Amino acid sequence: MHFDELIVGAGLFGAVYAQKAVEAGHKVLVIDKRDHIAGNIYTKKVSDIDVHVYGAHIFHTSDKAVWEYVNRYAEFNNYINSPVAVYGDELYNLPFNMNTFSKMWNIKTPAEAKAKIAEQIADLHITEPKNLEEQALSLVGRDVYEKLIKGYTQKQWGRPCTELPSFIIKRLPLRFTYDNNYFNDRYQGIPVEGYTAIVEKLLEGATVKVNEDFFDLRKTGKLSDGTEVTYDKLIFTGQIDQYYDYQFGPLSYRSVRFETEELPEENYQGNAVVNYTAADIPYTRIIEHKHFNYGTQKTTIISREYSSEWKPGVEPYYPVNNEENNALYEKYKALADQEENVVFGGRLGQYKYYNMDQIVAEALACAKGAGL
Ligand code: UDP
Repeated sequence: MHFDELIVGAGLFGAVYAQKAVEAGHKVLVIDKRDHIAGNIYTKKVSDIDVHVYGAHIFHTSDKAVWEYVNRYAEFNNYINSPVAVYGDELYNLPFNMNTFSKMWNIKTPAEAKAKIAEQIADLHITEPKNLEEQALSLVGRDVYEKLIKGYTQKQWGRPCTELPSFIIKRLPLRFTYDNNYFNDRYQGIPVEGYTAIVEKLLEGATVKVNEDFFDLRKTGKLSDGTEVTYDKLIFTGQIDQYYDYQFGPLSYRSVRFETEELPEENYQGNAVVNYTAADIPYTRIIEHKHFNYGTQKTTIISREYSSEWKPGVEPYYPVNNEENNALYEKYKALADQEENVVFGGRLGQYKYYNMDQIVAEALACAKGAGL
């Protein structure tokens, strides 16, 4: 069978690209090595609750075109992410805002909060933050850094904050208002029918095969059922280092593991996301899935999230964008830039810590660049 495009990975990037290619009348094959579509945004109904199987996904964007595009494929609710952080027996609002500072220091006004932060970093003389620790200290002061950032970040990334890039902490808003919205974006929500339903719709009209390993196909030219496959263009959303047989050495990724259980109670923690920021608690956060959809089911499902270094055989989730890995990625990218008929997309293909809206924007731009 001959296809105009072979898309490797049925996640968000691959699905958006597929939608554009099908719309243009192309014959598209999408394969995924897992036994389901939707990549890491896969959601699955369990006891009538949409479970975010690969971790919490909250769609947020300021890009109107992206928002309108995803709304063609799903109805979104009005969920606003407002996580809380537990440190020992203390509980704080996130992101870092006046509720956090007020509870931390028993103060009320933005001026008092700013004075407190300035006092805590006066002796550090940080002019240009060189790493995540310096960035965090200069933004929020020592108390917030020690209680809400240091332990969480080291668990999440498996590296000290002094060895991590400062951009990671700048993902979070810092506000001197009493506003617990975790994002600054104009549009935000969770698809009422889950993310898998969006991807299903995006993939309509494409041939989709799950349980198919691209590297087997590359070797044999055949799908697992023996069908011979040829194609004009490849859209690859897997790991770029694996595509090139790790020839310059492996890139680092972080993986996460979830311990999920159903509990015979209606409301376990009162919030969709509760972060555990102390270093001595082994998980980083607990997700209570029903709260993403204001669920009223009689039971609840929770997932404890544990972070680990990626190794072959587990799923990669996050690129580790420190200097060393970025330099290594540039070597792979130089090879990718020479390819005429291969597009690398998504978090793994482009080795970038993308949010979902950025993935949609990238995929639309790539498709447009290809004349779709
Ligand atoms: N972070 C933190 N404490 C928290 C939440 C986040 O220090 O309670 C830091 C941590 O370094 C994390 C980064 O902020 O990796 C970005 O957090 P985000 O919630 O954007 O991470 P994601 O949801 O993508 O895992």
